[in-house]
Amino acid sequence: MKILVLNCGSSSIKYKLFEMESKKVMAQGGVEKIGLPDSFLLVKLPNGEKVKIEKSMPEHTIGIQLILDTLVDAKIGCIKDLKEINAVGHRVVHGGEKFNKSVLITPEVKKEIEQCIDLAPLHNPANLKGIEAIEKTLPGVPQVAVFDTAFHQTMPDYAFMYALPYELYEKYAIRRYGFHGTSHRYVSARVCEFLGVDPKKQKIVTAHIGNGGSCAAVLNGKSVDTSMGLTPVEGLVMGTRAGDLDLGAATFIMDKEHLNTAEFNNLVNKKSGLLGVSGVSSDARDIDAAIKAGNKRADLARKMFIYRVIKYVGAYAAAMNGIDILVFTAGIGENDPFIRAEVMKGLSFLGVELDEEANNVRGEERIISKKGSKVTVCLIPTDEELMIASDTEALI
Ligand code: AMP
Repeated sequence: MKILVLNCGSSSIKYKLFEMESKKVMAQGGVEKIGLPDSFLLVKLPNGEKVKIEKSMPEHTIGIQLILDTLVDAKIGCIKDLKEINAVGHRVVHGGEKFNKSVLITPEVKKEIEQCIDLAPLHNPANLKGIEAIEKTLPGVPQVAVFDTAFHQTMPDYAFMYALPYELYEKYAIRRYGFHGTSHRYVSARVCEFLGVDPKKQKIVTAHIGNGGSCAAVLNGKSVDTSMGLTPVEGLVMGTRAGDLDLGAATFIMDKEHLNTAEFNNLVNKKSGLLGVSGVSSDARDIDAAIKAGNKRADLARKMFIYRVIKYVGAYAAAMNGIDILVFTAGIGENDPFIRAEVMKGLSFLGVELDEEANNVRGEERIISKKGSKVTVCLIPTDEELMIASDTEALI
């Protein structure tokens, strides 16, 4: 069985084609700058080579058609006929309270995704465009929606509610939803396979720390809390997002800087976090280089980043009345031994013992705590696309 996985953003489309028997990635790449004159498709060939195809793509259907054309291309393609694609799985950002698991896409499901646009005004319309583009380019092929929010639908009400007037929840469904659910679900399940333990008996904290970041408390296989909220801006310090912020500070800033809501949203989503504090970059590698060159604000930004992760892991250990496993994943979690080490040192009170040598690794499944550490700490590279492909296979 062959499954195409699509992650459609407002101006981009990432794709992977999976062969499900072997779980092998047959093709991958992405379209960027949809709607701009210099849009292009970058195909990553199995030998690591990259092929760039420049083409004007005013909208998603043209981008998806180009991706499909390259899949059957005599030179850089990997299949003979598009009929070989059995199904398409889509990453959909917001499923609101309607979706607690992945679903086969029907006209009703599309309507419900549309109804969640209020909650994810940038992402859900792009996800819908992708679904509709496949309806046109691969008519009749089953499609599945895999939601970023679904895994966290098991949070108890006292964890997902904001202490606001209850009417706001009733009127607008204002509550915490959480994101990165596909990643938290994948790594929390995978770490149990890797360690050979029963997922139904584990207290796990997953730290998905990349450009965006969130922690989740996963109790006996179910998410019981997560650090992102109604939107992805809550929680950890991120590349460009502020994370937790005093609401009083929000109105104060808006007044003083004369910002409207869109401008304030832009400030806390795009100009804050590592970038905002350091003034250097949102990228952990640039921050590291700046610190080495003596930049004090970059050092402060990284200290804040680390401190916030420690606080959340501590909070989730309290939420679950203990912690058996801590998992690091995503760009920084998988590749930055220094940040992992600092987080682990800050958690020694929980019985976390760092194995310095084991931690000196990038992007590989591994235990990085010492033998006998009360908490087993693991690095598990995330694979959201494989999870989307597996859900799609299961549903069709
Ligand atoms: P993601 O959003 O998961 O792609 O993660 C992006 C973040 O991962 C950026 O802050 C990168 O600096 C960081 N990252 C990626 N590769 C490395 C690396 N080799 N060393 C340190 N950080 C890395």
